[in-house]
Amino acid sequence: MTESLYTLLESRFPADRTKVLLETDAGTRFTYGEAEAAATRMARALADRGVKAGDRVAVQVDKSPAALFLYLACLRAGFVFLPMNTAYRPDEVDYLVGNAEPAAVICRPADEEIVRGIADRHGTPLVLTLDADGAGSLADAAAEAPADFPVAACAADDLAAMLYTSGTTGKPKGAMLTQRNLAANGLDLVESWRFTADDVLLHALPIFHAHGLFVACHCVLLAGASMLWLPGFDRASVIRLLPRATTFMGVPTFYTRLLDGDDFDRDVCAGMRLFTAGSAPLLAETHEAFEARTGHAILERYGMTETGMLTGNPYDGDRRPGSVGVPFPRVEVRIADDQDRPLGRTEIGGIQVRGPNVMKGYWRLPEKTAEEFTADGWFRTGDVGRIDDRGYLFIVGRAKDLVISGGYNVYPKEVESVIDELPGVVESAVIGVPHPDFGEAVVAVVVPAAEGAPDEAAVIAHCKAHLANYKTPKRVFFVPALPRNTMGKVQKAQLREQNAALFAPVG
Ligand code: ATP
Ligand code: MG
Repeated sequence: MTESLYTLLESRFPADRTKVLLETDAGTRFTYGEAEAAATRMARALADRGVKAGDRVAVQVDKSPAALFLYLACLRAGFVFLPMNTAYRPDEVDYLVGNAEPAAVICRPADEEIVRGIADRHGTPLVLTLDADGAGSLADAAAEAPADFPVAACAADDLAAMLYTSGTTGKPKGAMLTQRNLAANGLDLVESWRFTADDVLLHALPIFHAHGLFVACHCVLLAGASMLWLPGFDRASVIRLLPRATTFMGVPTFYTRLLDGDDFDRDVCAGMRLFTAGSAPLLAETHEAFEARTGHAILERYGMTETGMLTGNPYDGDRRPGSVGVPFPRVEVRIADDQDRPLGRTEIGGIQVRGPNVMKGYWRLPEKTAEEFTADGWFRTGDVGRIDDRGYLFIVGRAKDLVISGGYNVYPKEVESVIDELPGVVESAVIGVPHPDFGEAVVAVVVPAAEGAPDEAAVIAHCKAHLANYKTPKRVFFVPALPRNTMGKVQKAQLREQNAALFAPVG
C-alpha cells in the first residue's frame, strides 16, 4: 500500500484530469485538475505563512468545494486537517483550539473577530477565512500563490487528520488518524461498495465528520468518480438530483425525511445502485418502508471517529435489517467480556476491533488511550453487541448508556426498539434515573405522533408484554422532540438536563 494518503489518492485520479470531480447545486463544475491546482495553491499559501508538515490546521467553515480543496491541500502538504463542527459555539471552538494548538485556524468571515480573539488567547499564529462561495482571505492568498507545491513525503504512521468525537458520552476527544488509517479504510469501502469511475455520489452530508469527509469523499476520490454536491441535506434538492446519481450516503434521519412525501419513489431512484446509512441506528421500519417504496435496500454500516468504518451489510448476499453487517476486509471485530476474554457467537459483550484503520490514540490523553486498548492491541469501542451464528454484528447499545436496575443490566436500545414498534410513537429514548431501591430506574421518554399516541399505561403494558419486568419502564414521559446533534444522534445528557424536573419524582 502506498504510504501517503495523498499519493494514493493521486494515483487513483483519472488520467484525464478534465473529468468532473464535483458539480454544485448551482451547476458549477470543478474538474480533478482544477481541484488539484486549487489544493496546490492553498498548500503553498499556508506554507508561505509558516504552516509546516505535521502542524494542525483547524477548520470551521461552511461546506463548499473550496473546503474540500482545503482538505486536499492539507493532505498534499502533510498538514494535519482538523475539521470542527460548524454548529460549535465560540466556547467549544475555544476548547478545541486550546486543546489542539493548531498552527492556523480557517474560519467563516463572519466569525473572524471572535476566532482572532480565541487564536490570540492560545497563541495560534494564523487566522484566515473562507466563505460558502469559496471567497475569503485564504482564497485571496491562494489566488496569489503559484500552483506549485510538492507532495509531502509522509510515513504511514504520520497523522493525516485529527477528528474530535461527537461528544455523545462526554467531552469530545481528538482522535489521531494516520495516513495508513485513512488509506486502509478508504480502500476497504471503495472495494466493498464497488465504486468505479462511472459512479456519481450525491453528497448531502456535512464534511466536518468522518462520514461525509472520509467515507463519502474517499470513495469518490479513490474510484476517480464524480459527486453532485449539496451544501447540506435538503429534501427537495435530493429528490431533484437523485435521478442523476448512482450512490447516496445518509444518516438515518435523511431516509425518514425522504420517505415523508409521495414524490420520493421508484422513478426517482431508477438509476441508483447503492444507498448506505450510518452514524446512528437505522430503524428496521425505516429500512422496510424504504425498500417497499424504492425497491432498494439500505446498506447499514457501523463505524466511529476513532476507527473509521468497521462493518457493513454486504453488497452482494444477505442484507440483514437490524444488523450492521460483517467486518470490512481489513478489519477484525470480536466480542469480549470485561476482562477482554473473547466471547462465543451470540453472546453479548463489548465490541472490540483491530486493524490498520484504528487510530494511533487520543490527542494528549495517553491514559485514556491506554485505557481503551487491550494489551494485545484491540480497541474497546465502548459499544456493546453480539455476533450471530453467521457472523453478522448486532449493536445492543453503548456501554456508557447501560442502565443497571436492581442489579440487572438493561440496554436502552432494546427497550427503545420495543416502544418504537407501538403505533402512535414517533421515537423514544430510554434512560436510567436514580432510584432509592433499584439504584437506577428505567424511564422512557416518548415522542408521540400527532394522532393515535398511546398513554403512559399503554406504553408500559406493551413493554410488559414483550420485555422482562426489570426492563419495563417505571415511568413514561412525553416530549415534543428528542434533542439530537447534527449527525442525528440523540443527546441523552441534554435530554436529562432538559427534563430534570420531570425525572426528579422517579428517584
Ligand atoms: P463520543 O465518543 O464523544 O461520546 P460518539 O461516540 O457519538 O461520541 P462518533 O465517533 O461520531 O462519536 O460516533 C460513533 C458511535 O456512533 C459508535 O460508537 C456507535 O455508538 C454509533 N453508531 C455509528 N454507526 C451506528 C449504527 N449503524 N448503529 C448504531 N450505532 C451506530
Ligand atoms: Mg465514541
